[in-house]
Amino acid sequence: RGVLYVVATPIGNLADMSERARKILAEVDLIAAEDTRQTLRLLNHCGISATLVSYHDHNETSVSRRLLAELEQGRNLALVSDAGTPLVSDPGYSLVSAARERNLSVVPIPGPSAAICALSAAGLPSDRFLFLGFPPRSKPQRRTWLDGVADEPGTLILYESGRRAVATLADLAETLGDSRRVVLARELTKRFETFLFGSASELARRVEEDEEQQLGELVILVEGRGSDGEDAGLAEQERVLRILSESLP
Ligand code: SAM
Repeated sequence: RGVLYVVATPIGNLADMSERARKILAEVDLIAAEDTRQTLRLLNHCGISATLVSYHDHNETSVSRRLLAELEQGRNLALVSDAGTPLVSDPGYSLVSAARERNLSVVPIPGPSAAICALSAAGLPSDRFLFLGFPPRSKPQRRTWLDGVADEPGTLILYESGRRAVATLADLAETLGDSRRVVLARELTKRFETFLFGSASELARRVEEDEEQQLGELVILVEGRGSDGEDAGLAEQERVLRILSESLP
């Protein structure tokens, strides 16, 4: 039976493509790609020609069936997403879990992931962290979602697009209080890589005033809830008061 390789690809800087990732992509019989055009660009850059099949959120279940059959017949497959590590806020979960259920070999080929990349250079505690992926787009849902992680002591890691950064930062300030350190990591590994530091409301203001900061891709890191110190107590009081006042007539 074949092997399913889960291959991480660069999150912006093509020089981050690992030697092992190149080798595997050149050798497999089939590459399942989130967006075949995007992956073709990467393959061209690496001088690799390959057979691609499109695999994304909307066809994940049906294509998984076909890919599992290919694996059962002994073909080796690579799974890639548009950028970074597959399954991390990207397609692939249903294929990998189904492959595991069938006792097929699944081999990770590690490489970049925006969350870990941002965490490694943000300067916030990194001994414990919670990856949250993308916040819900609707404001009420986003607030409830953020309230749900208010007590988490580890650093919170969120994905967001530049366009929605201001709204999400404003909600962060309101739900978690404005005393936590927040880091915005934008365009990581790319030409305009930027790290901004401040409280959620300070950063919301800065991003709102500077349209440049609203472009591209973003990781938002938020300090976890402090276990001691006045700030944490104050933030918690503010949070409880806000929840109470919202539920009062
Ligand atoms: N699988 C990817 C990974 O391992 O990081 C994440 C894919 S997710 C669809 C895309 C989101 O990841 C973006 O909206 C952004 O929040 C984050 N992201 C990806 N590349 C980034 C970069 N170069 N700089 C900052 N954030 C990035």
